[in-house]
Amino acid sequence: MFSNEIEKFLRLKKYPVFDPKAVFFDMDGVLFDSMKYHVSAWVQAMVESGLPFTELEGYMNEGRTGASTIDGVFMRVYGREATEEEKQEIYKLKSIYFEAEAKIEQIPFVHELLLKIQAQHLGIFLVTGSGQATLLDSLEKHFPGLFIQERMVTAFDVKMGKPHPEPYLMALKKSKLNPWEVVVIENAPLGVESANAAGLFTIGVNTGPLDPKVLTDSGANIVFDGMKDLFENWNKILNS
Ligand code: CA
Repeated sequence: MFSNEIEKFLRLKKYPVFDPKAVFFDMDGVLFDSMKYHVSAWVQAMVESGLPFTELEGYMNEGRTGASTIDGVFMRVYGREATEEEKQEIYKLKSIYFEAEAKIEQIPFVHELLLKIQAQHLGIFLVTGSGQATLLDSLEKHFPGLFIQERMVTAFDVKMGKPHPEPYLMALKKSKLNPWEVVVIENAPLGVESANAAGLFTIGVNTGPLDPKVLTDSGANIVFDGMKDLFENWNKILNS
């Protein structure tokens, strides 16, 4: 059913075969329904720091590290990057608002999908730009036994962060797999861009308020409008 998308991907990347052995999961907006809290915390922290920032910008910047998001706003407002001190101050503020407001909830159907993937003996990796302790600590509680430290790339590991391919290339290296043996699940335009630039087959799942078309435009190989849709089609993708 998805053989056209897969053939197109193989042709474009000049890969010999599509043979998934591991799935790389993004965290915010894929595992946890946390984006609305991130966006609200960013808007509050930026505005309080005298920097204009909208919710839409929050969603469009999803996937970047905190430092990179702050630099982007500084470039736009002051024509320069933020200093280390300014970054720490604003990120601290953002984290305080996030921790105060966020309720940690799973994206519906993602746990079922993870269990299915585990039963299919595919490797499960986490690739996130987040350094938010609450969420990283919640992984084991919400998804017991599914994510292990050695199979994670977080904000603490990367220099560039998404949309740069670095985080996905780092995960690929950790997995010791070929790029045609990996499937990425992402919900944000910059995350899709990062995975695509790393040469990986990327499934875009729209779990937020953006038009799903932004995921196609960013280079997603298949786009689903919600996790339920992906869960129900998962075996068809593997068997294509
Ligand atoms: Ca995300």
